[in-house]
Amino acid sequence: MIQDLHSHTYYSFCGADTPEEVVEAAINGGIELLGITDHHYGIGDGRTDVYLSTSQEIGNDYERTLRRYFDHISLIKEKYEGKIKILRGIEIGTLKQGRVPLPESADISFFDYCLIEHVDHMEKSITGGDLFAFAERLGCPAGVAHTDLFKVAKNVGEEPLRYFTKMAERGIFWEMNVNLDTIHGGHQHPYMLEFFDNEEQQEIIRRSGVRLSVGFDGHRVYDYKPERIAAYCKKISEMGIKLAYE
Ligand SMILES: [Zn+2]
Ligand SMILES: [Zn+2]
Repeated sequence: MIQDLHSHTYYSFCGADTPEEVVEAAINGGIELLGITDHHYGIGDGRTDVYLSTSQEIGNDYERTLRRYFDHISLIKEKYEGKIKILRGIEIGTLKQGRVPLPESADISFFDYCLIEHVDHMEKSITGGDLFAFAERLGCPAGVAHTDLFKVAKNVGEEPLRYFTKMAERGIFWEMNVNLDTIHGGHQHPYMLEFFDNEEQQEIIRRSGVRLSVGFDGHRVYDYKPERIAAYCKKISEMGIKLAYE
């Protein structure tokens, strides 16, 4: 199954397209399962003035805007039923600096899944590098976005096999982020290139039972490369590794 579990719409400040445009680009590109994962600090903060405000009112606004985004994506999911499967996701940034972190009171447990980013920033991340505790707090299925988890395992002093087995036991998947577009400056993630080259790493992933996802991390439909998603989903399946949803 061709699945892209990482995409952005105008709900992210860095995204530009309507959810409809994003979904239609995916359908036209032959994607069978699409996860929409706007940034929590785009959705939850809703408007730039709220985003930049230090007002105590943000807590209330958060709840409203998270629900509004979720409801909109739910309508989109219904609208395109039979053409593509849609998952209602959210990307959770965890850096303490520069952005409003997810308020502790924010409930995202009703989302189909979330992507967690910046776990590798350790103490600069609200996770403190502890993926497992943070994923549990979020309360919905979780994946780890664009992160070198072999490096994270090393940083927290765990054998990679043990680390990935713990992820598998908790149903946390690992994203192979295959972005290649102008918004990311044509950059490709070194950890991803390494993984597809490194049979030792592939064997650890196979043995751990952890699932992988593929994400283009699209921000502009004109930059979307669905054939890249298809190619990487195929590579993973051919390795005998399961994709996140199958
Ligand atoms: Zn991200
Ligand atoms: Zn993203």
